[in-house]
Amino acid sequence: MRTPLIAGNWKMYKTETEAVDTVRRLASAVADVSAVEVMVAPPFTALSAVARAAEGTVVRVGAQNLFWEAEGAFTGEIAPGMLTALGCTYVIIGHSERRQYFGETDDTVNRRVGAALSAGLKPVLCVGETEAQREAGDTFSVLDKQVEIGLQGVSLKNPGDLVVAYEPVWAIGTGKTATSGQAQEVHLHLRQRLAGRFGTETAEAVRILYGGSVKPGNAPELMGMPDIDGALVGGASLDADTFSRIVRF
Ligand code: PEP
Repeated sequence: MRTPLIAGNWKMYKTETEAVDTVRRLASAVADVSAVEVMVAPPFTALSAVARAAEGTVVRVGAQNLFWEAEGAFTGEIAPGMLTALGCTYVIIGHSERRQYFGETDDTVNRRVGAALSAGLKPVLCVGETEAQREAGDTFSVLDKQVEIGLQGVSLKNPGDLVVAYEPVWAIGTGKTATSGQAQEVHLHLRQRLAGRFGTETAEAVRILYGGSVKPGNAPELMGMPDIDGALVGGASLDADTFSRIVRF
């Protein structure tokens, strides 16, 4: 049985004060929710304060990225142990914006996934095709490569530690959502690939989230699909009330 995860990616939005205010409102709006796991990933500058504000609530905290080394002369980077020390549970890895604007590749994604797991963080590995790739009929081959390289050499002590997020690039921040049928088709394919890689039992326990313009209005249908185990939400996670309505899909 997979517990759905509804995760908010706050990207480069919110000062520390704004982020704490939002997480407090969110925690109170979802205080009675136990069947769904809730996570927010604020910017690094707000992580510590948000983690403190979320302590003792049902809201888990994640980072938006990490570096794979434990420490060293890597100006501007954040080590896995720095995140666990703050109380982070999750870390988003390989978001399409990082791939598109910051030179993230499947190989660097793979190093980050391994480092996260070694440090006791749960990676949310993001994969997704561009519009051109979908139109060219390359969706599955693109995703297969992202999953295969992204998870190379990765072993899982607990299958619940790995989360995969299917985020079609053409649906992120565009208002275009994959239909529930399109998303389910991809999620099932991803689960089959995971089964080939880790075995069926493990693949059945890995949560596969959908991301791309998820809103309170489209969440119920998407979350109703058998292989969609939650959502990674960008824009609609910035407002506590809107996000809490997605949590209560
Ligand atoms: C995201 O950034 O992961 C995302 C899915 O964004 P949005 O919900 O705004 O499309």
